[in-house]
Amino acid sequence: MTTTSWASKPLAGWGRYPIVEALCARPESQSQTLNAFNEREGDAVLAHGFGRSYGDAALLSQGRVVLTRRLKKMLAFDETSGVLRVEAGVTIGELIEVFLPRGWFVPVVPGTQFVSVGGAIGCNIHGKNHGHAGCFGDHVLSMEVLLASGEVVRCSRAQHDDLFWATIGGMGLTGIILSAEIQLQAVESGAIEMESIRFNNLDEFFQISEESTDYFHTVSWIDCVKGGSQMGRGIFMRGRHASAEQAATLSEGPLERVVELVQRALDGRAFESNLLLNRATIRLFNEAYYHKHPAGELHSVVGYEPFFFPLDAVENWNYVYGKRGFLQYQMVVPEREAVRDILKVISESKMASFLAVIKEFGDQDHGGLSFPCGGTTLALDFPNFGEPLLAMMERLDALVAEVGGRIYLGKDARLSAEMFRRMYPTWEAWREVRDRWDPQGVFQSDLSRRLGLTPG
Ligand SMILES: Cc1cc2nc3c(=O)[nH]c(=O)nc-3n(C[C@H](O)[C@H](O)[C@H](O)COP(=O)(O)OP(=O)(O)OC[C@H]3O[C@@H](n4cnc5c(N)ncnc54)[C@H](O)[C@@H]3O)c2cc1C
Repeated sequence: MTTTSWASKPLAGWGRYPIVEALCARPESQSQTLNAFNEREGDAVLAHGFGRSYGDAALLSQGRVVLTRRLKKMLAFDETSGVLRVEAGVTIGELIEVFLPRGWFVPVVPGTQFVSVGGAIGCNIHGKNHGHAGCFGDHVLSMEVLLASGEVVRCSRAQHDDLFWATIGGMGLTGIILSAEIQLQAVESGAIEMESIRFNNLDEFFQISEESTDYFHTVSWIDCVKGGSQMGRGIFMRGRHASAEQAATLSEGPLERVVELVQRALDGRAFESNLLLNRATIRLFNEAYYHKHPAGELHSVVGYEPFFFPLDAVENWNYVYGKRGFLQYQMVVPEREAVRDILKVISESKMASFLAVIKEFGDQDHGGLSFPCGGTTLALDFPNFGEPLLAMMERLDALVAEVGGRIYLGKDARLSAEMFRRMYPTWEAWREVRDRWDPQGVFQSDLSRRLGLTPG
């Protein structure tokens, strides 16, 4: 038996804030993962997929981090039912690459294809189709989890259902997911028949959203700088998987334009200096993107990559924020009026969000630490403006909690334990299950310590 090589390295999420020094191992197989776990010398442990969570959900400063991206085997596939069993380090992009040619798609995908199956389960990710398909966890049939006891246990809705429930959206705190069985979705093509509509303000957004319930996928970009009667103006995108015939008429859609603009920002180095990515340059970016779309409605058939993963075309786009990194603030609020209040606080502040996305979730609420629930979700990327930004985010937390909303832990780096408890009403039930399977708190993260989710 070989000894695991644990090495210290700097580790960060996608926001590059915070960056921590962590003792990491990169096992190549399930048995090496077990060895690494057994050779942790009593330290706390955490699984880390592709680090596409933004803050400290996949970080553990004093403890051991198991990098799972080499657990890459596709273990079994049933061509008739579309049921697939894979190791946890396989990415969404790899699944699409292998199974789309066979007529199957991943039922829920996030805004980037560079996330692992383990990370998709750990954060119980949502896509542009929450109202129709729920979250990633709704399509997981079973999992094999390496527990704190060192055992590997299979869990599903019928077997150890408490562990199954707490692991979906469990932020890596119940154990290391080694493999999962997933139900894929049958599609005729990967292309998307899409409509994009420019809207002038938040009222128009909600109206179009109401009229779009029979579109499988919906998402909108909004301009958070603009106030007054144009507050919440933006571009609404809705679509469904195209037929094989439609897929033959692929064209470029409006989503390519955001890529073009971000790429230009990076190439021109306009945003390289921390001083230059400010309200003025963000305002220019938002103006340019809004006006690139003609007034009214556009119809196109676009590839799945620009539709689902537009920013993947810009390599390392998170570097647009320079050395200080950035913070994403994603919240869901059950009341539409609260969205207006939130946008008002942002547009009146001296800070601005570079890229902002808005969509409405369906009513499915998984409970525990899972984020999505009925309401409107806004995802905002702020350059790390320091103290003033943190103070504004605390104001937003209060508004969100007041109306029974919550913020996404997979994008968080600074929420307080007190606010978390107000936002996640079933957290105690989740913690009871977690403690049952891991009474000593072997699995921990910087996020879990900050929010008081684990002992230690
Ligand atoms: C550009 C961009 C767009 C995004 N869009 C969306 C979106 O639309 N919807 C959405 O929901 N999210 C979105 N995200 C967030 C992303 O989908 C999640 O953070 C996802 O969890 C990242 O997967 P990962 O493999 O990088 O996991 P990591 O960031 O490495 O880990 C995330 C969590 O999962 C746990 N974890 C990872 N692997 C395992 C494992 N094998 N066993 C147990 N736990 C594990 C970690 O401990 C951690 O708590 C986006 C991120 C980016 C960068």
